[in-house]
Amino acid sequence: MNLAGLLRSVVLALGAGALVACQTTGGSGGFSGAEPQTSPVRSVSEQRQGDSNHAKIVARFGGEYRDARIQDYVERIGRRVAAISEQPNERWTFTVLDSPDINAFAIPGGYVYVTRGLLALAENEAQLAGVIGHEIGHVTAGHSGQREDRSTVAGLGLLLGAIGLSAIGVDPSVTRGALELGQVAAGGIVASYSRQDELEADHLGIRYLARAGYDPYAQAEFLDNMAASAALDARAAGRRYDPNQVDFFASHPATGQRTRQAIDTARAQGAISGTGELGADRHLAAIDGMAWGQSPEQGIVEGVSFRHPRLGFAFEAPSGYRLTNTPSAVLAQGSGNTRLIFDGGADPGGALDSYIANRWVPEIARQTRVGQLARLEQLTINGLPAARGVLPVALQNGTYDALLVAIRMDGTIYRFTGLAPRGSRALNDMAVAANSFRRLSAAERSAIKARRVGIVTVGRADTAESLGQRMAVDALPVERFRVLNGLRPGEQPRPGERVKLVR
Ligand SMILES: [Zn+2]
Repeated sequence: MNLAGLLRSVVLALGAGALVACQTTGGSGGFSGAEPQTSPVRSVSEQRQGDSNHAKIVARFGGEYRDARIQDYVERIGRRVAAISEQPNERWTFTVLDSPDINAFAIPGGYVYVTRGLLALAENEAQLAGVIGHEIGHVTAGHSGQREDRSTVAGLGLLLGAIGLSAIGVDPSVTRGALELGQVAAGGIVASYSRQDELEADHLGIRYLARAGYDPYAQAEFLDNMAASAALDARAAGRRYDPNQVDFFASHPATGQRTRQAIDTARAQGAISGTGELGADRHLAAIDGMAWGQSPEQGIVEGVSFRHPRLGFAFEAPSGYRLTNTPSAVLAQGSGNTRLIFDGGADPGGALDSYIANRWVPEIARQTRVGQLARLEQLTINGLPAARGVLPVALQNGTYDALLVAIRMDGTIYRFTGLAPRGSRALNDMAVAANSFRRLSAAERSAIKARRVGIVTVGRADTAESLGQRMAVDALPVERFRVLNGLRPGEQPRPGERVKLVR
């Protein structure tokens, strides 16, 4: 979460229109024989839809990554691909999002988004162009996406809406449970394309790569890299890798192998010729020094602990909970339908027990049926003024107790909402978690350093193992080095080659 997110969270609570993510749940399938239908022009309503949603989407996904060199780099690739698409004369807007997730998406109106996490994983310009081409393909083919029915979790979505939760920004190491919660948080904003639409976008993406002079195999290579990265994230978090639970391409019908076969077929038919350029040096030069992983500006999740050096606080969720940090809230999911949601907003002043009774509870009551607020009390949490109470709430799948804790610090009210089925003992664990909220010391704040991508040249004595030891990552450094540099298990970098490190 970030400060801007906190302040805007209430404003953003009401829908941002349809955002379409590449998140189909399709299984197998190849390229269809038919050429995708594309349009040389856009309708006024398509353009208007994109124009009115762009700013909201940027805010929901962590804001723009503000680095002119990187924005220019992505812009240049985007223009090169758009110029040979079916809509060279329409308006295109390319945005780099300040998110460690590996993700990309497009909305109608020619708005294309890629995350800095995706830029860090790409090995070269052609791989990035492949992703951008896929997204441009969704726009030129006029894909609109469908909103999924999320009725099974709609009850929780309501309550999240009530507390002003707005964004999803699912961490790459996200678990199934947390992902589900993230999707709930998006409630109806994130829609999915059909499997057929995804296949068409792949088809168009490969066509654009070839026409723009890039190596068309780059898209297949990047699909492999994303799968390897997701598998390593799962391993680092002690989970089994499930491709259907990963952000972008992993839940996407394409795989590297299938994409390669499609290119081979196209080549055999004379539809694609030449090998094209990769642009590895340009890519590495562009991302040298770019932020990597979670940012101290947005707060750091480590197991069940959350630390926010910029805003100066920390807390610990109950053990076993899975944390997801979004621009406006931290979501923690436990077992047995228990959830803890942390957010914050401007302090309106006045007593905190009155804040809970007269502002917060009515906010929730506007969204869902509530019972009598009970056990309302003022207290002090690690020297900070606080208040708490318990509110029965009716969600679609039953009656819950909501523990409401408000803490005052530095002109902000921080809030914990603990949700557990009525009578569950989990509310006690969540009260303990809220009691762990504390101010970080100056030393603790400055000890949390931002990590960056650094580009180095492989020396004659270097190996994946020696370079891996120089990586500033929390787990599996040698494996992370290989994944980040497109090396297979056991493969060694070549002397003289330029590689990425995290430091
Ligand atoms: Zn897609």
